[in-house]
Amino acid sequence: MAQETIFSKIIRREIPADIVFQDDKVTAFRDISPQAPTHILIIPNKLIPTINDITEQDETLLGHMMIVAAKIANQEGIDESGYRLIMNCNKDAGQEVFHIHMHLLGGKNLGRLIG
Ligand code: 5GP
Repeated sequence: MAQETIFSKIIRREIPADIVFQDDKVTAFRDISPQAPTHILIIPNKLIPTINDITEQDETLLGHMMIVAAKIANQEGIDESGYRLIMNCNKDAGQEVFHIHMHLLGGKNLGRLIG
C-alpha cells in the first residue's frame, strides 16, 4: 500500500494550496517554491508514487494530465510564449514527493533543459 503524501491532503483540501484546476481525475495547484513566474503542479487524484508505478490502466489519466496542462498554460497566457513540462522519477531526478506530478513552468525564458 503506497504511503500518502501531503499532496493527498491538498487534493482533499485539508491543507491550503492555490488550486487552479480540479476535476474528478486531477488537481493542479501552484508550487509552494516557484522556480518560474508560472510554476504549477498537475497531479492525479489517485495516488501513484512514481512514474514506475504507472500501469496501462492509467493511460487515459496520463493523457488527461497533459490536456489539463495545455489548458492551464493557455489560462496563464504562456501557451504562445512557451513552457516546459517536467516529471521527476526517483533519486537521480530529484523527486521529493512520492505522488507523481507534472511541473508546468513558464513565464520566462527557461534556458536549456540540461547543462
Ligand atoms: P519534485 O522534486 O518531487 O519533482 O517536486 C516536488 C515539488 O512539490 C517541489 O517543487 C516543491 O516545491 C513542491 N511542494 C512540496 N510540498 C508542497 C506543498 O505543501 N505545497 C505546494 N504547493 N507545493 C509543494
